[in-house]
This record gives sequence, structure tokens and C-alpha cells, in this order.
Amino acid sequence: MEEKKPVYKRVLLKLSGEALSGDAGTGLDFKVMEKVCGVVAEAVRMGVEIGIVVGGGNFWRGVKNGEGRMDRARADYMGMLATIMNCLAIQDVLLQQGVDARVLTAMEIQHIGEPFSIDRAEGYLKNGSVVVLGGGVGSPYFTTDTGAVLRAALIHAEAILLAKNIDGVYSADPRKDPAAVKYDSISYEEVLEKRLAVMDTAATCIAMENQIPVMVFALKDPENILRALRGETVGTLVK
Ligand code: UDP
Repeated sequence: MEEKKPVYKRVLLKLSGEALSGDAGTGLDFKVMEKVCGVVAEAVRMGVEIGIVVGGGNFWRGVKNGEGRMDRARADYMGMLATIMNCLAIQDVLLQQGVDARVLTAMEIQHIGEPFSIDRAEGYLKNGSVVVLGGGVGSPYFTTDTGAVLRAALIHAEAILLAKNIDGVYSADPRKDPAAVKYDSISYEEVLEKRLAVMDTAATCIAMENQIPVMVFALKDPENILRALRGETVGTLVK
């Protein structure tokens, strides 16, 4: 049977830091990263343009790891640096797999990557390179989920693929509530009203205002990325 063609030309893939650490929950699991980058390479060969926003929670989260012991903003800058460490690792694994990958950072960091600009990102994407976007939005008090939605809007991505360590959006936390049910699809408004833990409120609002659909699924099976690109239902679609 012929493989279905991708339904998107350009997407933004958000990889949480935790998802890159496999079962360990911290650091980097290169087996996981090779699988994920292998799938990204396949998507690029299918003609899909991909921007990747990477989280940093596998190394450092400003509030969780720093609050009470450090100034919030300084702790958040450490989180942004953590995202950039992850970007370099993703870039390296993509390059090993024969995919050109460029690190673009929200704040200027000489020698490590180039500063993000829309034109620069567009240029690389059109050339078939993957852009790996680090540093979130470049400001403390934000998250990489907000960074992902903002970057998706700026590069005119048709959808956000939000790869997590949970397989979709649930009515309650399934680890705590056995009665929790998974949604196949849900509106941005409902996510906000019910305060469901998909993305932070700022990220959900920007996605809603700009009508960018967000697909939430588990990275545990990286093939989910290809399924989502082919328009198959995986996880939960927030629209
Ligand atoms: N961060 C920030 N501004 C941003 C993006 C990230 O201050 O625009 C900091 C913040 O401290 C956050 C950390 O970087 O906790 C890591 O990002 P995030 O928690 O979003 O990573 P993920 O949960 O996706 O691994």
C-alpha cells in the first residue's frame, strides 16, 4: 500500500526536555534522541519543513529548581541555557543522520548558534534544513511552550506537534485520577476554562488567537510524529 502523503508543509515540533531524557527523567538519552531524529529525518525527506523548539526541564526549570534559593529571573536564564544545551545535542544527532540542522537562539550566544530571525528561519526551512530553536522567547517568566507557539506563528507553521511524556489531553491527571478520560479533540476555550495541563495559559491563548492547531501526543513512540504529519489522529487535537 502506498504511504499517505503529509498533510502539512511546515510544522513546529515541540520536544520537552523531559521527553529527551527517556525513562531517566534527567539528562539526555541518546537512544531516544536517535529515534526521534530518525523520524524527523524521514519527515524532512517527505518534504516537510520542520522547526523544533526544545525545552530544558531535563536539566533545569527556573521555578522548580531555583525558587526560594535564587532570583527568579536568573534561575529562568539558567533554564534558557538548558534549552540551548538540548538544541546542540539535537543538532548533532540530526547532522549525524545526514540532515542539515541550524541552531537559532532567542538571545545572541556567539559561536553556539545564530540569533533567531524570521528571515533566517525561513531561509533555512526553504532549503530543507531543520531549524532548532533555543532559549524559548528569550525572557524570564516564560516557558518553551509559549516559545513554541510564538515561533510557530512567526514562521507560519500550519500546526504545532507537542510531543510529551503523556499521550494526550485528559480530563484530569490520569496518574492521580483513574476516572480521567482522554480527549480526541478539544477546543482552546475548554482547555482554558477547565485549566487542563496541556500548555501554560499564555501559550494556549497565543495558539487560540492565531488559530494554530496543537496536536498533543506521546514521544515514547516517535512514529507518532509521522502519523500526525499524515493527518492521522494521534493523542489529542487542540483547535
Ligand atoms: N525559560 C524561560 N523563558 C522562556 C523559556 C524557558 O525563562 O522563554 C526557562 C524557565 O525557567 C523554564 C526553563 O527555561 O522552566 C526550561 O523550559 P521549560 O520548563 O519550558 O522546558 P520543558 O518543560 O519543555 O522541558
